[in-house]
Amino acid sequence: MKLTSRAGGGNWPPSSFRRDLLPIPSKYYKGQGLKLSGGGEWKNALCPLHHDTRPSLLVHLVSGAFRCMACQKHGGDVLSFHMQRYGLKFREAAKQLGAWGTRT
Ligand SMILES: [Zn+2]
Repeated sequence: MKLTSRAGGGNWPPSSFRRDLLPIPSKYYKGQGLKLSGGGEWKNALCPLHHDTRPSLLVHLVSGAFRCMACQKHGGDVLSFHMQRYGLKFREAAKQLGAWGTRT
């Protein structure tokens, strides 16, 4: 029997994904048309993930994490938000956000 335990054989996260290229959360959320209000690092906004009538969404301007108090959608970064808002897969969302590196 052969032991083939090569490290790095997994493909998650994909090596093309460049977390460091994700947009800055504050810029990203403003670019998404969210009107951010409130003090501190957590901001309130109308939630674009459901038909929101009052600001139910909380977004964190440093980490990009978000949580909606009404529809319960949540995630840990802008990539997760982008996937949920536009129904994208990880790779598509990363590409749209410019965080999918291509080797040159
Ligand atoms: Zn919501």
